[in-house]
Amino acid sequence: MEESTVRYTEKDIGQIAEHSDERGTTYDDRIVLVYCQACGARFIGPIREAGGFLGGHEMFHTWEFKMEIENTMEA
Ligand SMILES: [Zn+2]
Repeated sequence: MEESTVRYTEKDIGQIAEHSDERGTTYDDRIVLVYCQACGARFIGPIREAGGFLGGHEMFHTWEFKMEIENTMEA
């Protein structure tokens, strides 16, 4: 699998992206800036990727929170 060389920066925000990967081609995907409300990490990229970023963080922080509760209960 070839890694994409496209890298989005702040000046790309609001632009419309068209990109293709091994699964298909995406048209009219807007470049957005999103950030994680839990840790402040930011991501610039197509909405599709931003969703993955947010979902990944949400999942991780939920797990992190759960671990913390479990550790507190054990102590
Ligand atoms: Zn986060």
